[in-house]
Amino acid sequence: MKHRVYVALGSNLGDRWGYLSRAVERMRAFMTVDAVSRVYETAPWGYADQPDFLNMVLSGETDLSPRGLLAALKEVERDLGRRPTVRYGPRVIDLDILFYDRVCTSTPELTIPHPRLHERAFVLVPLADIAPDLIHPCLGRRVRDLLEMLPTEDVRPAVASP
Ligand code: ADP
Ligand code: MG
Repeated sequence: MKHRVYVALGSNLGDRWGYLSRAVERMRAFMTVDAVSRVYETAPWGYADQPDFLNMVLSGETDLSPRGLLAALKEVERDLGRRPTVRYGPRVIDLDILFYDRVCTSTPELTIPHPRLHERAFVLVPLADIAPDLIHPCLGRRVRDLLEMLPTEDVRPAVASP
């Protein structure tokens, strides 16, 4: 059965464009990709002393379960060379599940929707490119309305495309 998913991608080390595009290509092995946001350059969040991030969001369909999708995304992170670091710290690639159908669930390993997406302009700005009217299934608010409550000046369109 096909499940509709939204995934956020971020990179702030090395060839950031290259990591984003390689991650998208790798993800096509286990999901179709039907919409891709623009890429944004974002001041770091949580742990400020690190390079700026490139952030983007994509949507598509997958047969995988939520846990299966998380495992597949973690494998891509590992294969692209991500090493353990401090929480919110620098990383070559970060892949987060934003939405999975209209599921609302929380376990120690996996929370869906992503628990901090509604407070992160670097997620909501690209998400609004591809799904402004999508309704957050637990908060009951549209992406564009969640975004309106946040400052967005630190999220700038990046110049090249991946
Ligand atoms: P962050 O993305 O918050 O900066 P990490 O990428 O290091 O942090 O993820 C830490 C853990 O968060 C992952 O190992 C994963 O088990 C968990 N996690 C919980 N919910 C999600 C989600 N929706 N998407 C991705 N990871 C998640
Ligand atoms: Mg992550």
